[in-house]
Amino acid sequence: MIETDVLIVGSGPAGCSAGLALSTYGIPNMIVTKYGWLANTPRAHLNNQRTMEILRDLGVEPEVIAKASPQDILGNAVFCTSLAGEELGRLRMFGTEPRRRADHTLASPCSMCDLPQNLLEPIILGAAAERGTRVRFLSEYLSSRQDAGGVTAEVKDRVSNQTYQIRAKYLLGADGANSKVAEDAGLPLEGKMGVAGSMNIVFHCDLTQYVSYRPSVLYWVLQPGSDVGGVGMGVIRMVRPWKDWLAIWGYDINAGAPQLTGQAAEAIVRNLIGDQHVPIQIRSCSLWTVNDMYATRYSTGRVFCMGDAVHRHPPMNGLGSNTSIQDAYNLAWKLALVLKGKANPELLDTYNEERVPIGQQIVKRANKSIGETGAIFEALGLQPGIEVAQMWRNMEARKSATPEAAAQRENLRKAILQKNYEFNTHGVELNQRYRSAAVVSDGTLEPPFERDAELYFHPTTWPGARLPHVWLQQKDGRQISTLDIAGKGRFVVLTGIGGERWIEAARKASSAHEIAIEGFVIGPGRDFTDLYGEWAEAREIGESGCLLVRPDAHVGWRAAEAGDEQNRLSAAVARMLGR
Ligand SMILES: Cc1cc2nc3c(=O)[nH]c(=O)nc-3n(C[C@H](O)[C@H](O)[C@H](O)COP(=O)(O)OP(=O)(O)OC[C@H]3O[C@@H](n4cnc5c(N)ncnc54)[C@H](O)[C@@H]3O)c2cc1C
Repeated sequence: MIETDVLIVGSGPAGCSAGLALSTYGIPNMIVTKYGWLANTPRAHLNNQRTMEILRDLGVEPEVIAKASPQDILGNAVFCTSLAGEELGRLRMFGTEPRRRADHTLASPCSMCDLPQNLLEPIILGAAAERGTRVRFLSEYLSSRQDAGGVTAEVKDRVSNQTYQIRAKYLLGADGANSKVAEDAGLPLEGKMGVAGSMNIVFHCDLTQYVSYRPSVLYWVLQPGSDVGGVGMGVIRMVRPWKDWLAIWGYDINAGAPQLTGQAAEAIVRNLIGDQHVPIQIRSCSLWTVNDMYATRYSTGRVFCMGDAVHRHPPMNGLGSNTSIQDAYNLAWKLALVLKGKANPELLDTYNEERVPIGQQIVKRANKSIGETGAIFEALGLQPGIEVAQMWRNMEARKSATPEAAAQRENLRKAILQKNYEFNTHGVELNQRYRSAAVVSDGTLEPPFERDAELYFHPTTWPGARLPHVWLQQKDGRQISTLDIAGKGRFVVLTGIGGERWIEAARKASSAHEIAIEGFVIGPGRDFTDLYGEWAEAREIGESGCLLVRPDAHVGWRAAEAGDEQNRLSAAVARMLGR
């Protein structure tokens, strides 16, 4: 029988990232995946700042940046009647509006970027395999059974059609929205699958003339009279600027899956572009459904699920691949500590406590974003059931010099601004504050959000929150982010002048618990300096206090001031490890 410590089913963003993180932390792992290669269509594109921070910690950020489209060209959501037709409004998205750009710059050492899933996955899997992940393509997970010591999975080799077994200490289900692993583990799921139908048409077409003066990744096409189910309107999605594209078009899910010919696909695409002559090559067509479902528990015994297996939602807000990568990163360091015998297996329960609320939040957010698009239709007078010619007249009506038209213009402006909740949810992306046994309270109350918690990021060192990013200086004057000091699979203690005893306490806790804990003093003449004085503002503790940062860069515990360092730090570490 083949044996490994962790068997991962699936090589999407969740499975690849789990393999990469586990191999980085020195845990033997194996990926089995159903097909002969990775994603064969672009699908997810957006990597938000938190995901880029994770990819940075795992060492693949430079390669992702080299291949991705940068944030600068992501930003104009265009609402139009076709690419060649009338433009109805624009919204600066993904942090490209100047004030939002400042929020992004302040929040992280990383920028958002856009890289299709079929180009991202090979980077992550390549690095994972290089670091030790064993990968078996054309290998389908069939079933599994667990006992006190591990999990035995039944796998089919799709070349020979033979089945064989793989024995692992833990099994990770990263097998997507139709997860067999989640089903076998009996994970409780709430919500509905197949709420609406959509089709993806991947095509090649030089659209430079229509887009280069308003660069964006999303062009929303509203066409009165067109049959738009699914996401409610047609979308032209950039894959690679400005020649490779993905058209998203709805279909009536109650009428069953349509048979889409190449000719029909080309007609849909031409309609959205509004140009009957531009050369188009249709590359592929596929159907997908809008889902509204999440698991209320992500694990059963030794089986843990992640990604779309446990949160299934439409692509609105671009959170799917991001959240999948973040799930994997959350679980990997915990699994590593448990498998190395350094932490109680109860630490793994905190994966549920920390990630289930995030999964629920993003499923609800993405589905709410679909609903909010309705306000744009309403403002334009595109109510269902009225005749097409009337719809066009209703749209035209907003151009008149009448109080009604002024109200219509204002309603449209507000409806488009409301889409900030789909395209600029910096808070949803970065305000992940964990509450679990792997976070030790310092007795302070959670700081309230001063601005809209979905739109804006509120940095804090409150235990459970991600360590705030601040640029510090190294001894040679070069800058380093606080997030670059953290991570790398180990705990970190940060203190300031007067808090040197925390460093000795970290050394002792490290040898007592046999885990890596590195301590750093921030201040003039110490490990790092705070020349801009920004850390003094961000740390929310006294200079002699201490932050204990987990391997995933979330604050695990903090102390406001020095005092009884050894006992307090050791107790916090022990509680976090469940010892
Ligand atoms: C049109 C569209 C646009 C999107 N845009 C974005 C975006 O901009 N940003 C974003 O973050 N998300 C986006 N998403 C969502 C994103 O694609 C998914 O959320 C993401 O792929 C989920 O990753 P995953 O690893 O959990 O699952 P998947 O990527 O679905 O991977 C599942 C893996 O499991 C394998 N598998 C399945 N069953 C078995 C089995 N029995 N045995 C072995 N292997 C198996 C599959 O082959 C695959 O490798 C978009 C989705 C769509 C449809």
